[in-house]
Amino acid sequence: MDCKPSVLLLFLFSPVCQGHLTSHHSNEVNLLDSKASQGELGWISYPSHGWEEISGVDEHYTPIRTFQVCNVMEYSQNNWLRTNWIPRNSAQKIYVELKFTLRDCNSIPLVLGTCKETFNLYYMETEEDQGDQFWEHQFSKIDTIAADESFTQTDLGDRILKLNTEVREVGPVAQKGFYLAFQDVGACVALVTVRVYFKKCPFTVRNLATFPDTVPTDSQALVEVRGSCVNNSREAEPPRMYCSTEGEWLVPIGKCLCDVAHEPRGVTCQVCRPGFYKSSPGNLRCSKCPPHSHAHQEGSAHCSCEKNYFRSEADPSSMACTRPPSSPRNVISVINETSVILDWSWPADSGGRKDVTFNVVCKRCSAGQRKCEACRGAVRFLPRPAGLSNTTVTVADLLAHTNYTFEIEALNGVSALSSEPRQFATVTITTNQAAPSPVAVIRKDRTSRNSISLSWLEPERPNGIILDYEVKFYEKQEQETSYTILRAKGTNVTLNGLKPDTIYLLQIRARTAAGYGGSSRKFEFETSPDSFSISSENSQVVLVAISSAVAIILLSVVVYLLLGRFCGYSKSKHPDEKRLPFVRLPGIRTYVDPHTYEDPTQAIHEFARELDASCIAIDKVVGAGEFGEVCSGRLKQPSKKETCVAIKTLKSGYTETQRRDFLSEASIMGQFDHPNIIRLEGVVTRNKPVMIVTEYMENGSLDCFLRRHDAQFTVIQLVGMLRGIASGMKYLSDMGYVHRDLAARNILVNSNLVCKVSDFGLSRVLEDDPEAAYTTRGGKIPIRWTAPEAIAYRKFTSASDAWSYGIVVWEVMSYGERPYWEMSNQDVIKAVDEGYRLPPPMDCPAALYQLMLDCWQKDRNNRPKFDQIVSLLDKLIRNPSSLKIIANAPSSPENMLLDRTGADIATFCSMGDWLESMHTLSCKDIFNGASYSSCNTLAKTSTEDFKQVGVTILGPQKKIVSSITALETHAKNGPVPV
Ligand code: AMP
Repeated sequence: MDCKPSVLLLFLFSPVCQGHLTSHHSNEVNLLDSKASQGELGWISYPSHGWEEISGVDEHYTPIRTFQVCNVMEYSQNNWLRTNWIPRNSAQKIYVELKFTLRDCNSIPLVLGTCKETFNLYYMETEEDQGDQFWEHQFSKIDTIAADESFTQTDLGDRILKLNTEVREVGPVAQKGFYLAFQDVGACVALVTVRVYFKKCPFTVRNLATFPDTVPTDSQALVEVRGSCVNNSREAEPPRMYCSTEGEWLVPIGKCLCDVAHEPRGVTCQVCRPGFYKSSPGNLRCSKCPPHSHAHQEGSAHCSCEKNYFRSEADPSSMACTRPPSSPRNVISVINETSVILDWSWPADSGGRKDVTFNVVCKRCSAGQRKCEACRGAVRFLPRPAGLSNTTVTVADLLAHTNYTFEIEALNGVSALSSEPRQFATVTITTNQAAPSPVAVIRKDRTSRNSISLSWLEPERPNGIILDYEVKFYEKQEQETSYTILRAKGTNVTLNGLKPDTIYLLQIRARTAAGYGGSSRKFEFETSPDSFSISSENSQVVLVAISSAVAIILLSVVVYLLLGRFCGYSKSKHPDEKRLPFVRLPGIRTYVDPHTYEDPTQAIHEFARELDASCIAIDKVVGAGEFGEVCSGRLKQPSKKETCVAIKTLKSGYTETQRRDFLSEASIMGQFDHPNIIRLEGVVTRNKPVMIVTEYMENGSLDCFLRRHDAQFTVIQLVGMLRGIASGMKYLSDMGYVHRDLAARNILVNSNLVCKVSDFGLSRVLEDDPEAAYTTRGGKIPIRWTAPEAIAYRKFTSASDAWSYGIVVWEVMSYGERPYWEMSNQDVIKAVDEGYRLPPPMDCPAALYQLMLDCWQKDRNNRPKFDQIVSLLDKLIRNPSSLKIIANAPSSPENMLLDRTGADIATFCSMGDWLESMHTLSCKDIFNGASYSSCNTLAKTSTEDFKQVGVTILGPQKKIVSSITALETHAKNGPVPV
């Protein structure tokens, strides 16, 4: 034994000893660690003089067990060492780590040449522990193990044995357990430690989800693992990760969100601390309670309001708690006959909110104010009595010489939640003398071939002694171009000298010391073909015959023409529409073309007030006009309240013609006085810059406004806007003014959604409009908005304005869509001429689409008049259910309804004719063959039915169905009663 070389080796390694089934790395699970065993390992050595189990110590003097063999002096060595049975656990692939020393044969003197420098590693899988049985041929070889380096050279030339570490993978393993075996064939080797382990992805928490210990598969495939959200959290997106074969977690996907009242802290979700809240799930931190609120408990989803502070249902939890506003202040009343403008200051305390509105209550009081009762329905509030967002209201239709008290209350979003008594500001007024209210009831007493006798009731509110009545009448056909005015002392009159079998329109208004009251609505009467005599003794009338009116007009024409000759001044750029000089007929106001004035400055001073430039403060630029900037600003006139105004300026360096054209807009605007026409405040002509000052319209032009608020209004609101525009246009047409450029871009909208007609130029009207294009006849015209006769031969009339109004209705109902989309002007002219019309906008009520089609009648005499449009819209507003039937057709250019309104859709007598007109000739033959004879049958036709008869292309199907729907709507509703 002396010559046996020593293999007791230096233990220069020091792995910390760990217990069974623990590992060096957190993702390694040990199945065997020889170092952990303090006693004998009990492995089988065969033959018995081969491998030897020896006790030793590591560098910490911890006892360890090693095996060694060194039979290098003998031939044919075959020494086996087999471990105990190692259960596989859940491993699919195992790793064997060997630490060993191996002497190189050169370092052993006197070896006989049999010395080896390797040994072999084997394994065998079994379902159970087989005890001491050992058959070497049942083992499979894993690898031959050699030392990386057997010795290290020291400085002194000594050779030191080096500890080698080798790791081998084995797998897949499938049976319950396995043995390892080490075969020595004549080396000098010491097995210092044997460690067997497998890898796993260890339990972890990512994105607030826990992932369990997971053993990877033996293949290269990743294992997908579903995570579970930690306590107090919920899945926002299912959490997942992949476990790699190396036991690493990869690609975290999805996440969990901490519940309401919980916030993420580390890898957990914890309750909010007192004073903090969290109202929605998520991984943000809890927020501090907003002002005037508190959370005494931990884990609060919301903070509660302090006493007398509230949160409305719509308030977000992040908003401070608020309280009702204090009462309005400094109420001022300005009385004008029987109306009063009330004006007040914002409350000192708005309660911390911006949604302050005001309610005004009207009470009628007896002298001495001792007894007050609520004002009855007749009193009108403009814009309304409740929910006012501005600090002003006009109350009209009060009784003359009567005491009223108004209570003004400020409210905000939490007023309804407070039980505190409400605070009002009050003001008491006494109304003045006022003009009488309109005559409401007129009765026909007798008619004959040439006369009609009428009587009427005194106005409901005469507001004084009625001096006389003015009766105005004209032939319906003449459309107010000539008319007759009579005055009656009493409440009846006989109209003589009428044409037999003719329809007349008539209006009456009463006069008191305070002036004329409003006109009655127009009443229609017809003379009879029979002769019938009447007496007019009781009526003291002044007859101004139609012939006299005509004579005055003729005379005026002569004067006008003569004046024109002498001055050499061309007044109108529109030869088709020369306007007459201002002829003041008793009781009627007519628009006067400022160009008929020889001196334009005279016109401007007749119709517009000169303002002192020092009263105007310009705030900012809001738009660009043709002549200069449009600004917003304030106008403060002596003894009047400051108002917001728009200021149009004339840029410097203008020519005299430009100045005249610029101011002509004011000369025109100044003649109008109507709630739906932009109001002129005045002009500055004596200083520079020259300015036109008008009321300010907070929401700017209607087209942009609608585009900004796409689909945000109710149909009734839209109809309300259209009603305003129609009412303004009625006023203009009554005045004899033709606008020529009516379009949504020329309508302005104020903060109360009131629409007002604007843009009154003369020669400049169309030059200024970017939409205007030159026509073949030389003028510039906004093609898409203009009636065909105005494009073709410049026939501009109120009827051509009605056409434009139809386009405005379309613009409004489509929230500012461009009429005819991207079609070229030429294509628009051609299509309209061929009878094509715009299709109904999406969700457009059928009644409004019918109104559009009526406005787009080719024959201008068939288009509705503006008074008819106003009363139609009023009917629709009073009866909102009439707006529920929707005109049905897709609104895109390629599906434009090919509605030849020249020949109304209802007039097609056979389906064949109609289909032909629809340009669906290929379908026509098919339908003829398939016996679809009536519109109804066709309308109910499904896509499947279409397929059966051979119509497979979607275009014609849609076109057919939408047009049938239009036909049906038309047939159901009949023509709109305008
Ligand atoms: P105009 O020269 O009248 O076409 O005005 C040009 C632009 O100025 C309009 O499109 C509006 O945006 C703005 N604007 C004109 N008048 C007013 C007004 N009275 N109130 C508010 N904005 C206005």
